[in-house]
Amino acid sequence: MTTAGRAPVLVIGGGIGGLTLALLLLERGVPVKVFERTADPREVGAGLLVAANALKVYRRVGVEDALLGAGAPLREGTLKVPSGKVLSSVDVADLATRVGAQSLGMHRGTYHGILLRAVPADCLVLGEELVRYEKSNGQVVAHFASGRVERGSMLVGADGVHSVVRKQLDGGQWTPPRDAGESCWRGLAPADCIPADHPAQWAFTETWGDSVRVGLIPLGNGLLSWHVYFRPWTEPFPDEAGGPRSPERQELLRARFLEILGRWHDPIPAIVAAGDFDALLRTENRDRPPTDRWSDGRVVLLGDSLHPITPNIGQGAALAVEGAAVLARAVAEESDPRAAIARYRKERQRRVAFISWLSHGVGPWASSGSRVMRALRNLGTRGTPQWLAVACSEQIYGYDAL
Ligand SMILES: Cc1cc2nc3c(=O)[nH]c(=O)nc-3n(C[C@H](O)[C@H](O)[C@H](O)COP(=O)(O)OP(=O)(O)OC[C@H]3O[C@@H](n4cnc5c(N)ncnc54)[C@H](O)[C@@H]3O)c2cc1C
Repeated sequence: MTTAGRAPVLVIGGGIGGLTLALLLLERGVPVKVFERTADPREVGAGLLVAANALKVYRRVGVEDALLGAGAPLREGTLKVPSGKVLSSVDVADLATRVGAQSLGMHRGTYHGILLRAVPADCLVLGEELVRYEKSNGQVVAHFASGRVERGSMLVGADGVHSVVRKQLDGGQWTPPRDAGESCWRGLAPADCIPADHPAQWAFTETWGDSVRVGLIPLGNGLLSWHVYFRPWTEPFPDEAGGPRSPERQELLRARFLEILGRWHDPIPAIVAAGDFDALLRTENRDRPPTDRWSDGRVVLLGDSLHPITPNIGQGAALAVEGAAVLARAVAEESDPRAAIARYRKERQRRVAFISWLSHGVGPWASSGSRVMRALRNLGTRGTPQWLAVACSEQIYGYDAL
C-alpha cells in the first residue's frame, strides 16, 4: 500500500494506547499525529503490570528492551489470604517461556515516559484538547479548544475513560462509565523496607480478605507498589483523609491503614509502614459493559475510551496495546480506513468482551463481604488444578496481537 501524500491518522490522546498506536503506525510507514491535552506530561501514577501480551508488542517497535531495563521482571504470581496461606500460585518465569515474553512490574510514569520519548517530536502535539470532530469529503476534521483545526484520513479516540470522542460518537445513547463498586488506593514504598531476598522483590502478590484486598508489585528502580481495594461500604476513612496533602494527613492515613492491615501477613505491614502517603492515589474503579458502537465512519475508539475495565486482572493498558497493534496492522494493509476499522473490530470484539467480563467478575469474588462467599472463594481457588490456572494465564498472557 502506498502512503505517499496520505493525510495522517489523527490520534486523540497521548496515553499508553495513543502513543503505542503512533509507534506501530510509524513503523509500518503510515503518517500519524498525536494530540495530547496535557502540555507537560509528568511521570505520575503508581505501579502497573506490563503483562506479556502487551510487552511483546513493543518488540516490533524496538521499545521492549527499554521497558525491560526500567521495570522488574516478575517470577511468580501468588494469591493469599491475610494469614499468609497461599490460595494459588503461578510460575510467571515459566509462563514467560511458554508465551514468549516477560511480564513486568513498572511505575506507570516510567512506562509512559519511555513511550513519550520513543515517539518522534514532530508527530506529537502537546497541550491541544479536542472538543469535537466532523466528517467531511472522505476525511475527518478535528477541532481543538485552542481553535486549531486538523484534517486526517481517520481519527482515533484514544482519549481515555472520559473520552470526548466517545461522547460525540455515542450521541444520545451516551451513558457515563459504570461504578464497579470498589475504591482503590495505590501507593509506593522503598524496596529496601524489606530484605533484598524477600519474594515480594520479584513476585506479584494479591491477598484477599473480608471486603478488602491488597496487591504488591515490585517496580524495579528501588520501588515497590502496593494497592488496596475496598468495597465502598467498608472504606473506613475519616473525612480529613480526603483533604489537602499535609504531614498530618499522611500520618492519619498511615495510622488507619496500619490499623486495618497491621496484622496481615508479612511483608504487608512493613510496606505500609514505609509507604509514601503523600504520593497515595485514590480512584473509584469504573468500567463499561462491551458496546456495539466502536466507530462512526472514519472515527474509531481505542483503549479505555472503548473498553475501560476494572483493574482487577491488570489488563486495561494491555488491552489498549493489543488493540493498537491490531488497528495499526489493519490500517497499513487496507487502503480504505473504514475497511481497516471493520477488520479491527472483527478481530478484537470477542477478546475484549471476554477480558472485560472476567475482570468485572473478579472484584465481588475477590473482596467479598460475605463469610459464605469467602469460604467458597478460598475453597474454589485452592481447589483449582494447577494445569487449569496455567491454561487460564496462557489464554490472557499468550495473546499475540501482531
Ligand atoms: C487503579 C488502576 C490500576 C491499573 N492497573 C493496571 C495494570 O496493572 N495493568 C494494566 O495493563 N492496566 C492497568 N490499569 C488500566 C490502565 O491504566 C488503562 O487501561 C490505560 O491507561 C488505558 O490507556 P489509554 O491510552 O486508553 O487511556 P489513558 O492512559 O487514560 O490516556 C488517555 C490520554 O488522553 C488524553 N486526553 C483525554 N481527553 C483528551 C482530549 N479531549 N484531547 C486530547 N487529549 C485528551 C489524556 O490526557 C490522556 O493522556 C489500571 C487502572 C487503574 C485505574
